[in-house]
Amino acid sequence: MEELTGAQLIAESLKTQNVEYMFGIVGVPIIEVAMAAQAAGIKYVGMRNEQAACYAASAVGYLTGRPGACLVVSGPGLIHALGGMANANMNCWPVIVIGGSSDRNQETAGAFQEFPQVEACRLFSKFSVRPSSLEVIPSVVEKAVRASMYGRPGACYIDIAGDMVNAKVDRSQIRVVSCCPDPPVSLADHGAVAEAVSVLKTAKRPLVIIGKGAAYSRAETALREFVETSGLPFLPTPMGKGVLPDDHPHCVAAARSRALLQADVILLLGARLNWILHFGLPPRFDPNVKIIQVDLCAEEMGNNVRPAVALLGDINAVVTQLLQGICKDGWKYGSGTEWWSLLRNKIAANAKISKTLALQSTVPMNYYTVFHHVSQLLPHDCIIISEGANTMDIGRTMLNNYLPRHRLDAGTFGTMGVGLGFAIAAATLERSNGEKGRRIVCVEGDSAFGFSGMEVETMCRYNLPVVIIVVNNNGIYSGVDPETWREMAKMGDLTSIAPPVTLLPEARYDEVMAAFGGKGYLVRTVEELRSALELSLTDWQRPSLLNVLIDPSSDRKQQLSGLRSSRRDSARA
Ligand code: ADP
Ligand code: MG
Repeated sequence: MEELTGAQLIAESLKTQNVEYMFGIVGVPIIEVAMAAQAAGIKYVGMRNEQAACYAASAVGYLTGRPGACLVVSGPGLIHALGGMANANMNCWPVIVIGGSSDRNQETAGAFQEFPQVEACRLFSKFSVRPSSLEVIPSVVEKAVRASMYGRPGACYIDIAGDMVNAKVDRSQIRVVSCCPDPPVSLADHGAVAEAVSVLKTAKRPLVIIGKGAAYSRAETALREFVETSGLPFLPTPMGKGVLPDDHPHCVAAARSRALLQADVILLLGARLNWILHFGLPPRFDPNVKIIQVDLCAEEMGNNVRPAVALLGDINAVVTQLLQGICKDGWKYGSGTEWWSLLRNKIAANAKISKTLALQSTVPMNYYTVFHHVSQLLPHDCIIISEGANTMDIGRTMLNNYLPRHRLDAGTFGTMGVGLGFAIAAATLERSNGEKGRRIVCVEGDSAFGFSGMEVETMCRYNLPVVIIVVNNNGIYSGVDPETWREMAKMGDLTSIAPPVTLLPEARYDEVMAAFGGKGYLVRTVEELRSALELSLTDWQRPSLLNVLIDPSSDRKQQLSGLRSSRRDSARA
C-alpha cells in the first residue's frame, strides 16, 4: 500500500500534464504543494508578489504553448493573482492558478483568509473549480490544463481546501489520467478559403495584419512563404512583431496609419478588432474595407466589423490553405503598384523624422536617442519585454524584433507591471534549455518598473541574467526635474500641489538592483548608455539594471493633444 498526500497528487498530476514550471508564493496551506512539485520534477520559482507570479506563469504558456502554474495562498494571495489571471485571459494565454483555501469544516465560519475563491475566479477564467475529493484531482487537473489550451486559450483555476493538502489516499484508489495532447488543429471551410482568395486577388490596396494569435499558433514558416509568394504588404500588431522580421521588405510598420486607413482588403490573422486596431472603424479605417478574418474563436467573427469572409480555424493551417489557393495559378501582387510606392514613400518619410530625433545629442537624452543606441547594441535573438506608456509606444517603433514570440508587453489589457514577471519566466525557460540561452531585455518606464520592482530580488536570488533598462522620465507619462521638485516642496504640501503624474525625480532604481547583488548603472549620456549596455550584455552571472535618466518632458514625435489621448493611445499597434 502506498499513501499519497493531496499535495503529492496535485504535483504529480501537473507533471503528468507536462506542466513543467510553477511560480508562486508559499504560506499556509500550500507550502507542501510547492515542495511536492519540486519532488515531482517541476521547477519552482518563488516570487515576491502573486500578481508577478501569475504574469510569469502565463508567459510560460504563451512562449511554450503549455500552461505554467501559479501557486498562491488563500484570500489575499489569490486576490493578488486575479490581476495576472485577468491579464492572461484577455491575452488568450494558457495558465493554471492553484489556490489554497480554508479547511472544509471551517467554511462560512470566518476561517483564516476565507474568501469565495471559486466564484471570484469565474470572471477571470474559462474554468474555475474545487475538486470534491482527492480521488478526482488527476482528472480535474487534466481538465483545467486542457481547457486552458483548447479553443481560445486562457486561465483556469483549481481551488484546494487546506485540509486536502495533507490528507492521504491510497495510490490504488487513484485512476490514472494520461497527458492531454496538444490542441486539435482545424482547417477553414474550403468554400470560404476560395472566396477569401478571390477577394484578395481583386484587392487594389491589400494588407495583411499579423497578430499575436499568429505568433501563438507558430505560423511563422507558412506565413513567410505566404507573404513572399503573394507579394502582399504586412503590418504586425505589438506582439505580432517578429513572426516575420521587422526588417522584412514587406513590413510596412513604419507606415502604419496610412496602411490601415487606405487598405481596401485586410487579411486579419489572429488579432482582434479592439482598441489596439482602432476597432477596425473610421476614422482610422476605410468604411468600406473588406476584412478577411482568421481566428479559431467563432464568437470573435464580426466584432465591430462584419467580415467579408470569416475563416474559422488555426492560423498556421489556414495560412497554408490560403497559400495553396494563391499559388494555384501563380498569382502575385505586383511590387510596382501605386499602393506599394505610396507605402514606401511614407516609410522613408517617417524614418527620416525618427532619425533626426535619434541623433540629437542633448543631455538629458530623449526617448528616440535612447532607443536608437539600444537597438544598435541588442542581439538579434534577444527577447524584448516592454511596458510603460511612452517607453512602450516609442520603443515598439524603434526596437526591432526578428524572431517570433520574442516580444512581450502590456498586451490586450494594457497591464503595467507585467515586465519583471515576464522576464523571470523567459529567463527561467532559457536557463532550462541549457547553455547561456538568449538575452532577456526588459525595457521599462520608471512607473511600470515600480509595480513589480521587488522582483529584482527574485532575479538576483536565482541568478537570472536579465538586463533591465529603466527609461526614467521621473513620472507617469512625464515628470519634473529635481530642481522644480525641490521648489515645489518648498512651496507647500506636495499632496496638494505635486502633479499626480510625478514620481521622485532621478530615483535610484539602479541601487535597488545593486542592493540584492545585481549590477546597477546610472546613465545620463549616450556614452554611458552604450558602455553600460555593452557591459550588461556580456555579464551572464547576474541581472543588471540601467537607470537611464531622460528629459522628463521628452515626448512622442507628434505633440499629443493632452494626457488623456496619450493614455488611450498607449500600447497601440
Ligand atoms: P493582438 O494583440 O496581436 O491584436 P489579439 O490578442 O487581439 O491579438 O488577438 C489574438 C486572436 O488570435 C484571438 O482572437 C484568438 O482567439 C486568436 N488565436 C489564438 N490562437 C490562435 C490560433 N492558433 N489560430 C487562430 N486564432 C488564434
Ligand atoms: Mg515614466
